[in-house]
Amino acid sequence: MSRSLLLRAARSVRLRSTVERVPVTRKLVARYVAGTEEQDATRVSGELVSEGMTVTVDFLGEDTLDRQQAASVADSYVSLLDALHQSGLSSAVEVSLKLSALGQALPADGEAIALEHARKVCDAARRAGTTVTLDMEDHTTTDSTLGILQQLRLDFPETGAVLQAYLRRTEADCRDLAYEGSRVRLCKGAYNEPPGVAYTDPREVDRAYVRCAKILLAGPGYPMLATHDPRLVEITGSLAAKYRREQGSYEYQMLYGVRPEEQRRLVRAGERMRVYVPYGEDWYGYLVRRLAERPANMLLFVRSVASKR
Ligand SMILES: Cc1cc2nc3c(=O)[nH]c(=O)nc-3n(C[C@H](O)[C@H](O)[C@H](O)COP(=O)(O)OP(=O)(O)OC[C@H]3O[C@@H](n4cnc5c(N)ncnc54)[C@H](O)[C@@H]3O)c2cc1C
Repeated sequence: MSRSLLLRAARSVRLRSTVERVPVTRKLVARYVAGTEEQDATRVSGELVSEGMTVTVDFLGEDTLDRQQAASVADSYVSLLDALHQSGLSSAVEVSLKLSALGQALPADGEAIALEHARKVCDAARRAGTTVTLDMEDHTTTDSTLGILQQLRLDFPETGAVLQAYLRRTEADCRDLAYEGSRVRLCKGAYNEPPGVAYTDPREVDRAYVRCAKILLAGPGYPMLATHDPRLVEITGSLAAKYRREQGSYEYQMLYGVRPEEQRRLVRAGERMRVYVPYGEDWYGYLVRRLAERPANMLLFVRSVASKR
Protein backbone atom coordinates (compact mmCIF):
# COMPACT_ATOMS: atom_id res chain seq x y z
CA MET A 1 0.00 0.00 0.00
CA SER A 2 1.53 3.35 -1.01
CA ARG A 3 2.18 6.17 1.44
CA SER A 4 -0.21 8.53 -0.33
CA LEU A 5 -2.99 5.90 -0.29
CA LEU A 6 -2.42 5.42 3.44
CA LEU A 7 -2.49 9.13 4.06
CA ARG A 8 -5.78 9.36 2.19
CA ALA A 9 -6.99 6.49 4.40
CA ALA A 10 -6.13 8.64 7.44
CA ARG A 11 -8.98 10.94 6.38
CA SER A 12 -11.47 8.24 5.31
CA VAL A 13 -14.49 8.09 7.57
CA ARG A 14 -15.64 4.69 6.24
CA LEU A 15 -12.29 2.98 6.70
CA ARG A 16 -11.98 4.59 10.09
CA SER A 17 -15.18 3.07 11.42
CA THR A 18 -14.13 -0.38 10.09
CA VAL A 19 -10.66 -0.23 11.63
CA GLU A 20 -11.97 1.08 14.94
CA ARG A 21 -14.19 -1.99 15.26
CA VAL A 22 -11.26 -4.40 14.83
CA PRO A 23 -9.99 -5.26 18.33
CA VAL A 24 -6.58 -6.47 17.13
CA THR A 25 -5.46 -2.94 16.30
CA ARG A 26 -5.10 -2.45 20.05
CA LYS A 27 -1.56 -3.79 20.28
CA LEU A 28 -0.33 -1.48 17.56
CA VAL A 29 -2.23 1.43 19.06
CA ALA A 30 -0.62 0.75 22.46
CA ARG A 31 2.83 1.10 20.90
CA TYR A 32 2.14 4.67 19.77
CA VAL A 33 -0.63 5.92 22.06
CA ALA A 34 -0.52 6.25 25.87
CA GLY A 35 -4.12 5.09 26.27
CA THR A 36 -7.60 6.50 26.00
CA GLU A 37 -7.84 8.32 29.36
CA GLU A 38 -6.25 11.39 30.93
CA GLN A 39 -4.66 9.22 33.63
CA ASP A 40 -2.95 7.17 30.90
CA ALA A 41 -1.34 10.36 29.63
CA THR A 42 -0.17 11.41 33.11
CA ARG A 43 1.08 7.89 33.92
CA VAL A 44 3.13 7.58 30.70
CA SER A 45 4.40 11.16 31.08
CA GLY A 46 5.52 10.35 34.63
CA GLU A 47 7.39 7.26 33.41
CA LEU A 48 9.19 9.22 30.70
CA VAL A 49 10.04 12.10 33.06
CA SER A 50 11.52 9.60 35.53
CA GLU A 51 13.83 8.49 32.69
CA GLY A 52 15.06 12.05 32.21
CA MET A 53 12.82 12.97 29.26
CA THR A 54 10.54 15.93 28.82
CA VAL A 55 7.13 15.42 27.20
CA THR A 56 4.50 17.10 25.05
CA VAL A 57 1.02 15.56 25.37
CA ASP A 58 -1.49 15.54 22.52
CA PHE A 59 -5.18 14.91 23.18
CA LEU A 60 -6.05 13.02 20.01
CA GLY A 61 -8.62 14.49 17.66
CA GLU A 62 -8.67 16.68 14.59
CA ASP A 63 -10.94 18.20 11.95
CA THR A 64 -14.04 18.92 14.00
CA LEU A 65 -16.98 20.78 12.48
CA ASP A 66 -18.96 20.57 15.69
CA ARG A 67 -18.86 23.61 17.98
CA GLN A 68 -19.56 21.65 21.13
CA GLN A 69 -16.90 19.11 20.30
CA ALA A 70 -14.35 21.93 19.79
CA ALA A 71 -15.24 23.40 23.19
CA SER A 72 -15.00 20.01 24.84
CA VAL A 73 -11.49 19.43 23.37
CA ALA A 74 -10.37 22.72 24.97
CA ASP A 75 -11.91 21.61 28.28
CA SER A 76 -10.08 18.28 28.07
CA TYR A 77 -6.79 20.14 27.71
CA VAL A 78 -7.58 22.36 30.69
CA SER A 79 -8.39 19.29 32.77
CA LEU A 80 -5.21 17.54 31.57
CA LEU A 81 -3.08 20.56 32.48
CA ASP A 82 -4.61 20.63 35.96
CA ALA A 83 -3.87 16.90 36.35
CA LEU A 84 -0.27 17.38 35.20
CA HIS A 85 0.15 20.26 37.63
CA GLN A 86 -1.28 18.25 40.51
CA SER A 87 1.01 15.31 39.71
CA GLY A 88 4.02 17.64 39.86
CA LEU A 89 4.81 16.98 36.20
CA SER A 90 4.01 20.27 34.54
CA SER A 91 7.53 21.71 34.66
CA ALA A 92 8.64 18.88 32.33
CA VAL A 93 5.43 18.26 30.41
CA GLU A 94 3.75 20.65 27.96
CA VAL A 95 0.86 20.09 25.53
CA SER A 96 0.51 20.01 21.74
CA LEU A 97 -2.69 21.31 20.18
CA LYS A 98 -4.29 20.81 16.77
CA LEU A 99 -6.28 23.90 15.84
CA SER A 100 -8.59 21.86 13.62
CA ALA A 101 -9.73 20.04 16.77
CA LEU A 102 -10.54 23.42 18.31
CA GLY A 103 -12.87 24.43 15.48
CA GLN A 104 -10.49 26.15 13.01
CA ALA A 105 -12.46 24.77 10.02
CA LEU A 106 -15.90 25.79 11.28
CA PRO A 107 -17.66 27.92 8.66
CA ALA A 108 -17.62 31.72 9.08
CA ASP A 109 -15.91 32.21 12.44
CA GLY A 110 -13.78 29.05 12.78
CA GLU A 111 -10.49 30.89 13.23
CA ALA A 112 -11.92 33.14 15.94
CA ILE A 113 -13.36 30.12 17.76
CA ALA A 114 -10.10 28.16 17.54
CA LEU A 115 -8.19 31.22 18.80
CA GLU A 116 -10.53 31.64 21.75
CA HIS A 117 -10.19 27.96 22.71
CA ALA A 118 -6.43 28.03 22.23
CA ARG A 119 -6.23 31.08 24.53
CA LYS A 120 -8.10 29.17 27.19
CA VAL A 121 -5.62 26.30 26.93
CA CYS A 122 -2.61 28.68 26.95
CA ASP A 123 -4.00 30.33 30.04
CA ALA A 124 -4.35 26.96 31.81
CA ALA A 125 -0.82 26.02 30.69
CA ARG A 126 0.57 29.22 32.13
CA ARG A 127 -1.22 28.62 35.44
CA ALA A 128 0.31 25.14 35.48
CA GLY A 129 3.75 26.58 34.72
CA THR A 130 4.10 25.05 31.28
CA THR A 131 3.64 25.80 27.57
CA VAL A 132 1.58 24.95 24.49
CA THR A 133 2.80 24.08 20.99
CA LEU A 134 0.48 24.39 17.98
CA ASP A 135 0.82 21.31 15.77
CA MET A 136 0.89 22.02 12.04
CA GLU A 137 -1.63 20.26 9.80
CA ASP A 138 -2.03 20.16 6.00
CA HIS A 139 -0.82 23.08 3.87
CA THR A 140 -4.28 24.62 3.44
CA THR A 141 -4.13 25.55 7.14
CA THR A 142 -0.55 26.89 7.36
CA ASP A 143 -1.35 30.60 6.95
CA SER A 144 -4.30 30.39 9.30
CA THR A 145 -2.27 28.50 11.94
CA LEU A 146 0.65 30.93 11.75
CA GLY A 147 -1.84 33.82 11.98
CA ILE A 148 -3.39 32.35 15.12
CA LEU A 149 0.10 31.72 16.52
CA GLN A 150 0.94 35.39 16.05
CA GLN A 151 -2.22 36.42 17.89
CA LEU A 152 -1.53 33.99 20.73
CA ARG A 153 2.08 35.07 21.07
CA LEU A 154 0.94 38.65 21.85
CA ASP A 155 -0.23 37.34 25.24
CA PHE A 156 1.61 34.02 25.40
CA PRO A 157 5.00 34.52 23.69
CA GLU A 158 6.08 31.09 24.93
CA THR A 159 3.64 29.36 22.52
CA GLY A 160 5.50 26.96 20.24
CA ALA A 161 5.14 26.78 16.45
CA VAL A 162 5.62 23.81 14.12
CA LEU A 163 7.15 24.11 10.65
CA GLN A 164 7.25 21.29 8.09
CA ALA A 165 10.47 20.99 6.07
CA TYR A 166 8.65 19.41 3.09
CA LEU A 167 6.78 22.64 2.33
CA ARG A 168 8.58 24.87 -0.16
CA ARG A 169 7.65 27.96 1.87
CA THR A 170 9.22 26.73 5.11
CA GLU A 171 12.74 28.19 4.80
CA ALA A 172 11.13 31.63 4.66
CA ASP A 173 8.87 30.77 7.62
CA CYS A 174 11.96 29.64 9.57
CA ARG A 175 13.60 33.01 8.92
CA ASP A 176 10.44 34.81 10.12
CA LEU A 177 10.21 32.72 13.28
CA ALA A 178 13.91 32.55 14.23
CA TYR A 179 13.75 35.31 16.82
CA GLU A 180 14.57 35.56 20.52
CA GLY A 181 12.27 33.41 22.67
CA SER A 182 10.56 31.80 19.66
CA ARG A 183 10.03 28.07 20.16
CA VAL A 184 9.89 26.31 16.80
CA ARG A 185 9.48 22.58 16.20
CA LEU A 186 10.93 21.48 12.87
CA CYS A 187 9.57 18.23 11.43
CA LYS A 188 9.58 16.71 7.93
CA GLY A 189 5.78 16.88 7.59
CA ALA A 190 3.21 14.08 7.77
CA TYR A 191 0.48 14.94 5.22
CA ASN A 192 -0.04 14.06 1.59
CA GLU A 193 0.88 17.32 -0.13
CA PRO A 194 0.90 18.21 -3.86
CA PRO A 195 4.25 18.89 -5.58
CA GLY A 196 3.23 22.52 -6.18
CA VAL A 197 3.61 23.28 -2.48
CA ALA A 198 5.85 20.50 -1.17
CA TYR A 199 8.99 18.54 -2.03
CA THR A 200 7.92 14.98 -2.75
CA ASP A 201 11.37 13.37 -3.17
CA PRO A 202 12.50 12.21 0.31
CA ARG A 203 16.09 13.34 -0.41
CA GLU A 204 14.85 16.82 -1.22
CA VAL A 205 12.85 16.85 2.02
CA ASP A 206 15.99 15.86 3.96
CA ARG A 207 18.02 18.61 2.30
CA ALA A 208 15.28 21.14 3.08
CA TYR A 209 15.26 19.91 6.70
CA VAL A 210 18.99 20.62 7.00
CA ARG A 211 18.63 24.10 5.47
CA CYS A 212 15.81 24.90 7.91
CA ALA A 213 17.69 23.45 10.89
CA LYS A 214 20.66 25.70 10.01
CA ILE A 215 18.45 28.79 10.01
CA LEU A 216 16.88 27.89 13.36
CA LEU A 217 20.08 26.79 15.10
CA ALA A 218 22.02 29.83 13.84
CA GLY A 219 19.31 32.19 15.13
CA PRO A 220 18.45 33.33 18.66
CA GLY A 221 15.23 31.28 19.05
CA TYR A 222 14.65 27.88 20.66
CA PRO A 223 14.71 25.15 17.98
CA MET A 224 12.96 21.83 18.63
CA LEU A 225 14.30 19.29 16.16
CA ALA A 226 11.61 16.64 15.70
CA THR A 227 12.90 13.70 13.71
CA HIS A 228 13.79 10.01 14.13
CA ASP A 229 16.02 10.06 11.09
CA PRO A 230 19.48 8.91 12.27
CA ARG A 231 21.29 11.08 9.70
CA LEU A 232 19.33 14.18 10.61
CA VAL A 233 19.86 13.59 14.33
CA GLU A 234 23.60 13.37 13.66
CA ILE A 235 23.61 16.47 11.44
CA THR A 236 21.64 18.37 14.11
CA GLY A 237 24.37 17.51 16.63
CA SER A 238 27.11 18.81 14.30
CA LEU A 239 25.15 21.97 13.51
CA ALA A 240 24.53 22.62 17.22
CA ALA A 241 28.30 22.38 17.79
CA LYS A 242 29.04 24.56 14.76
CA TYR A 243 26.70 27.31 15.96
CA ARG A 244 28.01 26.94 19.55
CA ARG A 245 24.65 25.95 20.92
CA GLU A 246 24.77 24.75 24.50
CA GLN A 247 22.81 21.61 25.37
CA GLY A 248 19.41 22.74 26.59
CA SER A 249 19.34 25.78 24.27
CA TYR A 250 17.62 23.52 21.73
CA GLU A 251 15.94 20.12 22.02
CA TYR A 252 15.33 16.89 20.15
CA GLN A 253 11.78 15.58 19.85
CA MET A 254 10.52 12.12 18.95
CA LEU A 255 7.18 10.32 19.02
CA TYR A 256 6.19 7.96 21.81
CA GLY A 257 7.01 4.42 20.70
CA VAL A 258 9.40 5.40 17.92
CA ARG A 259 13.12 4.70 18.51
CA PRO A 260 12.85 4.66 22.33
CA GLU A 261 16.47 3.46 22.65
CA GLU A 262 17.69 6.45 20.67
CA GLN A 263 15.62 8.69 22.93
CA ARG A 264 17.42 7.24 25.97
CA ARG A 265 20.81 7.52 24.28
CA LEU A 266 20.29 11.24 23.66
CA VAL A 267 19.31 11.76 27.30
CA ARG A 268 22.45 9.91 28.41
CA ALA A 269 24.46 12.20 26.14
CA GLY A 270 23.09 15.16 28.10
CA GLU A 271 20.66 16.34 25.42
CA ARG A 272 17.13 17.60 26.10
CA MET A 273 14.77 15.04 24.62
CA ARG A 274 11.02 15.67 24.42
CA VAL A 275 8.65 12.79 23.67
CA TYR A 276 5.33 13.48 21.96
CA VAL A 277 2.71 11.43 23.82
CA PRO A 278 -0.77 11.15 22.30
CA TYR A 279 -3.79 9.87 24.22
CA GLY A 280 -7.54 9.69 23.73
CA GLU A 281 -10.21 7.71 21.92
CA ASP A 282 -9.63 9.38 18.59
CA TRP A 283 -6.42 7.57 17.63
CA TYR A 284 -7.32 6.54 14.07
CA GLY A 285 -5.84 9.39 11.97
CA TYR A 286 -2.73 9.48 14.15
CA LEU A 287 -2.14 5.74 13.88
CA VAL A 288 -2.55 5.66 10.10
CA ARG A 289 -0.02 8.50 9.69
CA ARG A 290 2.47 6.51 11.80
CA LEU A 291 1.83 3.43 9.64
CA ALA A 292 2.42 5.48 6.51
CA GLU A 293 5.88 6.34 7.85
CA ARG A 294 6.83 2.69 8.24
CA PRO A 295 5.70 0.08 5.70
CA ALA A 296 6.87 -2.71 8.05
CA ASN A 297 4.27 -1.55 10.58
CA MET A 298 1.59 -1.67 7.91
CA LEU A 299 2.40 -5.31 7.14
CA LEU A 300 2.21 -6.13 10.84
CA PHE A 301 -1.17 -4.47 11.02
CA VAL A 302 -2.63 -6.19 7.94
CA ARG A 303 -1.39 -9.58 9.19
CA SER A 304 -2.92 -9.10 12.62
CA VAL A 305 -6.26 -7.97 11.21
CA ALA A 306 -6.32 -10.93 8.81
CA SER A 307 -5.49 -13.49 11.51
CA LYS A 308 -7.70 -12.35 14.41
CA ARG A 309 -10.73 -10.67 12.97
C1 LIG B 1 7.64 15.30 18.19
C2 LIG B 1 7.06 15.27 16.83
C3 LIG B 1 6.03 16.12 16.50
C4 LIG B 1 5.49 16.14 15.22
N1 LIG B 1 4.53 17.06 14.90
C5 LIG B 1 4.10 17.14 13.62
C6 LIG B 1 3.22 18.17 13.20
O1 LIG B 1 2.79 19.02 13.97
N2 LIG B 1 2.83 18.18 11.90
C7 LIG B 1 3.29 17.25 10.99
O2 LIG B 1 2.93 17.32 9.81
N3 LIG B 1 4.11 16.25 11.38
C8 LIG B 1 4.53 16.18 12.65
N4 LIG B 1 5.40 15.18 13.00
C9 LIG B 1 5.63 14.04 12.08
C10 LIG B 1 6.78 14.31 11.13
O3 LIG B 1 6.40 15.32 10.23
C11 LIG B 1 7.14 13.05 10.36
O4 LIG B 1 6.04 12.59 9.64
C12 LIG B 1 7.64 11.91 11.22
O5 LIG B 1 8.39 12.39 12.30
C13 LIG B 1 8.52 10.96 10.41
O6 LIG B 1 9.62 11.65 9.89
P1 LIG B 1 11.13 11.43 10.41
O7 LIG B 1 11.77 12.77 10.47
O8 LIG B 1 11.14 10.68 11.66
O9 LIG B 1 11.85 10.68 9.23
P2 LIG B 1 11.51 9.35 8.44
O10 LIG B 1 12.36 9.42 7.23
O11 LIG B 1 10.04 9.17 8.26
O12 LIG B 1 12.01 8.21 9.42
C14 LIG B 1 13.36 8.03 9.74
C15 LIG B 1 13.50 6.74 10.52
O13 LIG B 1 12.81 6.84 11.76
C16 LIG B 1 12.16 5.63 12.08
N5 LIG B 1 10.70 5.85 12.06
C17 LIG B 1 10.05 6.92 11.56
N6 LIG B 1 8.72 6.81 11.76
C18 LIG B 1 8.53 5.62 12.35
C19 LIG B 1 7.38 4.94 12.83
N7 LIG B 1 6.16 5.46 12.68
N8 LIG B 1 7.53 3.75 13.43
C20 LIG B 1 8.76 3.21 13.59
N9 LIG B 1 9.90 3.82 13.17
C21 LIG B 1 9.79 5.00 12.56
C22 LIG B 1 12.58 4.64 11.04
O14 LIG B 1 13.76 4.02 11.48
C23 LIG B 1 12.88 5.51 9.85
O15 LIG B 1 13.76 4.92 8.95
C24 LIG B 1 5.97 15.19 14.26
C25 LIG B 1 7.03 14.34 14.58
C26 LIG B 1 7.58 14.37 15.83
C27 LIG B 1 8.74 13.48 16.13
